[in-house]
Amino acid sequence: MASKSYRYNQKTGNLEPLGYGYEFSYEIAPGIMEYINAVKKTLNVLSMLDRTNPEQKAIYDTLAPETAKVIDAILKSPKIRQVKKVIWDKDKINHDPAAKAKLEFYKKLTRIVEKHFDNQIPIIRGKLEAWKPERKSTDLSDEQRTIGLLNAHVSLLRSKYTKATIDIPWLLDADLWSDDEFDADMMLTLLHAAENGIDLFEAAVAIGIDYSLVNSAAATWARKYTYKLVKGIDDTTRQALQKAVSAFVETPGMTIGDAMKLMPFGTDRAQTVAVTEITRAYSSANRLAGEQLAKEFPDMQVVKQWFTNQDDRVCEICGPLNGKKVGLNEDFSPGISEPPGHVNCRCWDSVTTELRNE
Ligand SMILES: [Zn+2]
Repeated sequence: MASKSYRYNQKTGNLEPLGYGYEFSYEIAPGIMEYINAVKKTLNVLSMLDRTNPEQKAIYDTLAPETAKVIDAILKSPKIRQVKKVIWDKDKINHDPAAKAKLEFYKKLTRIVEKHFDNQIPIIRGKLEAWKPERKSTDLSDEQRTIGLLNAHVSLLRSKYTKATIDIPWLLDADLWSDDEFDADMMLTLLHAAENGIDLFEAAVAIGIDYSLVNSAAATWARKYTYKLVKGIDDTTRQALQKAVSAFVETPGMTIGDAMKLMPFGTDRAQTVAVTEITRAYSSANRLAGEQLAKEFPDMQVVKQWFTNQDDRVCEICGPLNGKKVGLNEDFSPGISEPPGHVNCRCWDSVTTELRNE
């Protein structure tokens, strides 16, 4: 029978799918998770009961021993088996040579993206107020409003799978999207991160190549990629805006102030962009330097190797790639030719040379 591995997180009390870097895991047969989830739900309800209230105490007294029995049965079940497994050799933990510099770049890029969002927020509010002035306030009762807001959130969740239908006349207005300072700051930060990647490459590879060519290739990359990235960020915002504004229009009693709380701006999103794109700047730098190396030394075989941080945040996409070596122009796994392997990826690759096997 196929089984999936989980680990027990003592801090949260949850079972989590096994990533990489854990020393212990529980092998749990499929199906048993349903029981565990049911117990977790019951425990949740139990913890909410007010035991000074006689009625609720009676419910607690009946449910608590039952729940204890179920937990006991699960732990004794032959379907669950604790396996001790050292996944990482502690002596071989990877240390990102750029970790310190990257942290600074993460912070810088997060601030740049947040600033872009901060510019957009008042513009959106102004446009909503001009478009639906009657929605600045509401005369619905608090209860009606709460139900309305809950419905708006539910419809927003559902809209992940459906198309928004409301036509927003100002959605494509240039003042909402053009932000020259954002474009310039983004490009410069990506370029500086790439340049740092090239410096690290130079220090590690110790083979003289024409670095002025590599640096100019990095500048071209930063310019082209910034254009693509900014468009991608704004497209995502536009889609999220379309959904949030639709929920606002379709929910009676929802005010413009409420609508602003549904907007797709936040530090989380800015940080995600920062981590992902700094990862990309470094791997792009390695690729560009590797291409120059291959050009100047055609007899050498240029290879790249994937490294994860090997901490407990490494995911199931990147974990198996750790240490993998492929040719400069090959994919590490289908469709993944270099980090980032996914959004929020903190991996890096290192380009080196090997003697060609004749
Ligand atoms: Zn990764």
